[in-house]
Amino acid sequence: MNLQLILLGAPGSGKGTQASNIINELGYNHLSTGDLLRKEISEGSNLGKRVTAIMDSGKLVDDQTVLELLNNNCNLQESSYIFDGFPRNIEQAKLLDENVLGSTTSLALFFEIDLTILTNRIVNRRTCAKCGEIYNLMSRPPKKEGVCDVCGHTEFKHRKDDNKESVKTRLDVFTSAIGPVLEYYESAGRLVKIDASMSSEEIFEKVKNVIKNHQ
Ligand code: AMP
Repeated sequence: MNLQLILLGAPGSGKGTQASNIINELGYNHLSTGDLLRKEISEGSNLGKRVTAIMDSGKLVDDQTVLELLNNNCNLQESSYIFDGFPRNIEQAKLLDENVLGSTTSLALFFEIDLTILTNRIVNRRTCAKCGEIYNLMSRPPKKEGVCDVCGHTEFKHRKDDNKESVKTRLDVFTSAIGPVLEYYESAGRLVKIDASMSSEEIFEKVKNVIKNHQ
C-alpha cells in the first residue's frame, strides 16, 4: 500500500521546500491546494474567478471547492502523494479521511516553528518563475543575484498574498485552527512532529528517516 503524507505547518515553516525534496528524491507526487487554486486563477476558470478575492485576502476558500479540486487531481491506488496545504482545520481533516484517504496508510508531518520569525521570512520569499525553486532574499538568496541556481532563469515570482497584511491573516487563520488538527492525528497515532528551526538539510534527513520507518 502506498504511504500518503500530509504536511502541516504555518506559512513559511519550510513545508514547501521539504515537499520539493520529497518529490525530487523520493518520487512522491505533489498535491498543493494553494497551487491548484492559483492554477485555476491563472487559467481564468469560473472556479478561479470565484476564489481570487478570498485568496488575496489570506482567508480560506470553502471546504467543498478545495475538496473537489483535490479529488480531481489524485489517484491514491496508483501513487504516493504529499498533501500540502490541506487540511487547514479539523473539518477538512475529517473530510480528507472520509472522502479521499479512505483506508490508505497516511502520516501527518508537522513542521513546528516559532511563529514570530515567520512574517519576515514570508515577505522575502521568491520563487523561480520557470522551475519553482524557492528562495529567500534574506536567508537564502540565489548565488548570483537575479539568476536561479537550478535552471538559470532570471524571472522570479513574488506571491500576491506574501505581503505583511495577508501574512498576518494567514498566520492568524493557521493558529486558530491547527490545535484540533494536531490532536486529531495525534490521537490516531498518525502524527510526527519535526523541529523546523533546523537547517533544511537536517530537516530532510529527519523526514527521510520517518518515511523509511513507516513503509
Ligand atoms: P497556500 O499556498 O497553501 O499558502 O494557500 C494560499 C491560499 O489558498 C490560502 O490563503 C487560502 O486562501 C487558499 N487555500 C489553500 N489551501 C486551502 C484549503 N485547504 N482550504 C481553504 N483555502 C485554501
